Amino acid sequence: MAQLSDDCFAHGGRLMSTAEALTLLAEKAAVVTAPRRLPLGEALGRILAEDITAGHDLPPADNSAVDGYAVYFDDLKTKAETRLPIAGRITAGHPPEAPLARGRAARIFTGAQMPAGADTVMMQEDCREEDGAVIIRPGIKSGANRRLRGEDFKAGDLVLAKGSRLRAQDLGQAAAAGRSELLVYGPLRVALFSTGDELRDPGGTLDPGAIYDSNRFALLGLLKGLGCEVRDLGILEDQPAVIETALAEAAADHDLIVTSGGVSVGEEDHVKQAVEALGHLHLWRLAIKPGRPIAFGQVGRVPFVGLPGNPVAVMVTFMNVVRPMILSLMGATEVSPHRFSVCAGFHHRKKKARREWLRVRLEADGAGGWVARKFPREGAGILSSMVESDGLVELPEDLTELAPGASVDFLPFSEVS
Ligand code: AMP
Ligand code: MG
Repeated sequence: MAQLSDDCFAHGGRLMSTAEALTLLAEKAAVVTAPRRLPLGEALGRILAEDITAGHDLPPADNSAVDGYAVYFDDLKTKAETRLPIAGRITAGHPPEAPLARGRAARIFTGAQMPAGADTVMMQEDCREEDGAVIIRPGIKSGANRRLRGEDFKAGDLVLAKGSRLRAQDLGQAAAAGRSELLVYGPLRVALFSTGDELRDPGGTLDPGAIYDSNRFALLGLLKGLGCEVRDLGILEDQPAVIETALAEAAADHDLIVTSGGVSVGEEDHVKQAVEALGHLHLWRLAIKPGRPIAFGQVGRVPFVGLPGNPVAVMVTFMNVVRPMILSLMGATEVSPHRFSVCAGFHHRKKKARREWLRVRLEADGAGGWVARKFPREGAGILSSMVESDGLVELPEDLTELAPGASVDFLPFSEVS
């Protein structure tokens, strides 16, 4: 179970920078999900809880990179065709029994082990066979088309590091190193609630004043995308007692509680009170846009994150502030997304000392680069802006005016979700 020391999220109440928030969260979020062995085929997206070291070289022996003829480079004429009698046929999975005799070529196929002595492979497209001999064109380089033993990794090399979030290629690498099981951290068990009297589950009818709960499904997607095991606990009414009971129950068997809505400073924002009754709550006023205060705290010993209610604010704050914390809680070492430089295709003014994320769509500029087009409506409640965008442009604190053509940092949604 995730553990936090008491009052770990305490903060003075002034506007906190994103960098400061991320540092604090990284320091406080200790990994606690217990490692377990999983068959390789089930480990996709999990965080590796051990270093994987190769027990052998890959490739295990020199082998051919093409279908062709293995030769001694020194047997080839540099300016004229060379004719070499063919001695033997070597296929993948069947190592040659004898070394290649001087002045001979061996028919060889991709992945087949090089016969001892041979150092170069001539591609079959560049040769012709005649009466049991191969005629080789001049011009090949020594060592061409041969893959060396251990050129991918060597016995003893660290091939996957503890804390990696396992991608398809990582599973391939683990298999190549001979592992059928991996020690991975257990999934973070997350309890997810929405709060608000106006919210209804999609599928039902909408009475006057009601809207469908979209945040829970967006958050479900974001959390599952990170590999969390999410328990959807539905919608909580704006009633302190209801919220308190639900949170206390959720804390019993989860590693993290995530809610949206009810954490601003309105009179109907009761989450604050409920969390305070059960543990600690700190409202962080982050110097960001979009994003209202974000609540961090703990219900008993279980970390609690209360996100804003506005559908864009909830996603953007999750992507930029909560995602790194969740990855840290799950044991990942790389928690920062990659940013890519693109060209701004719009003019924009912003307040100083605040980090802003704008929703943008990318367009090719026709010269190999990308131009970011800003979604025209900026409201933190306009969920369509997320649907119609490719990612976020991040504007740093010190910037106040952005001119079209300026270079900006782009965060593709794939990097933050
Ligand atoms: P709150 O932070 O509770 O004051 O909510 C801010 C705004 O976000 C209000 O307009 C809410 O109706 C809206 N909102 C809150 N929660 C959700 C949700 N789960 N789905 C869609 N909109 C929401
Ligand atoms: Mg509300």
